[in-house]
Amino acid sequence: MNDTKPPIDGFGRRIEYLRLSVTDRCNLRCFYCLPEGCSNFTPRTNYLTFAEIERLIDAFIGIGLKRLRITGGEPLARKGLNKLIEKLAAKPQLTDLSLSTNATLLRTQARALRKAGVQRLNVSLDSLDPQRFAQITGGGDLEAVLQGLDAAQKAGFAPIKINMLALAGVNDDEIEDMFAFCRGNGFTLRLIEVMPMGATGRWSGRHFLDLQTIKNRLIERFDLVPADMEGGGPARYWRIRKTHHKIGFITPMSEHFCATCNRVRLTAEGKLHLCLGQNADLDFKPLLRNGASIEQLQKALRKALLQKPQRHEFLEKPDQINRFMAATGG
Ligand code: SAM
Repeated sequence: MNDTKPPIDGFGRRIEYLRLSVTDRCNLRCFYCLPEGCSNFTPRTNYLTFAEIERLIDAFIGIGLKRLRITGGEPLARKGLNKLIEKLAAKPQLTDLSLSTNATLLRTQARALRKAGVQRLNVSLDSLDPQRFAQITGGGDLEAVLQGLDAAQKAGFAPIKINMLALAGVNDDEIEDMFAFCRGNGFTLRLIEVMPMGATGRWSGRHFLDLQTIKNRLIERFDLVPADMEGGGPARYWRIRKTHHKIGFITPMSEHFCATCNRVRLTAEGKLHLCLGQNADLDFKPLLRNGASIEQLQKALRKALLQKPQRHEFLEKPDQINRFMAATGG
């Protein structure tokens, strides 16, 4: 039975978007995301099974979930993922099924992902310099990412969005080059500000780059004008007036978008995080493992949504979030 009231949180925001983490493991070690040498992962036996994930999503769909992004950790590292994707893609109420990846495993998986039903891909890529890429990612192979992107295009994914974390003193000299690479290949670049995650006692803000300055520089240099882009995310888009190439800016720190936040995040082990920048969560695994009915799950979901915090406090309390992005689901 479906509960027809819209999924509204305590601040009147309609929460229709779920980021579903299918693993907290990743084959890269981006220094801002996972600590070097980190091996403190959730035992795989603690992950929700695909059947449990599907049940919770069915309950969420019943109260109005419309959009879902599969993420992690590196989602392509979760065995058998396409079986889950096929099930989710078959749900007509989900109007948007997308996936975030570092693309290192895409070369061999792109076609199957497309066939299973992924509609859109976001690829994280912070540098086009092989050595720098390896430094940022703790040894990653840029060539594998480029081959993965090529395979994704051949498999028919379009548009592919490239997410570049803009990091002061690390890759801020590459922003124009990355924009040129994206224009040349038909990708849409989004620049993102780094947030203090998993940083308790470690956040210095050393690599934080305020994107307002970068945006103003690019507006002038490329004659950018405001633009729209489908996807419903927090990015604000601009386009080159003459060529229509787009670029997005995601500015959780310098200009946050909490008032229009429409999402929550489910970790691989079943915790629903209500805000990336707060610790509020609700553990759904006990309910799922104790045989909760769809109605009981929906009731718990609604209760959780009402606890969604008004906004993050990354600026006021940069040491607050001890979870790494890979654990929460980026
Ligand atoms: N492995 C997939 C990928 O690379 O896209 C999905 C997970 S990854 C955690 C998702 C995104 O989170 C990446 O684009 C990464 O750059 C971003 N991210 C990780 N830590 C971050 C931080 N502290 N601040 C901002 N973005 C972060």
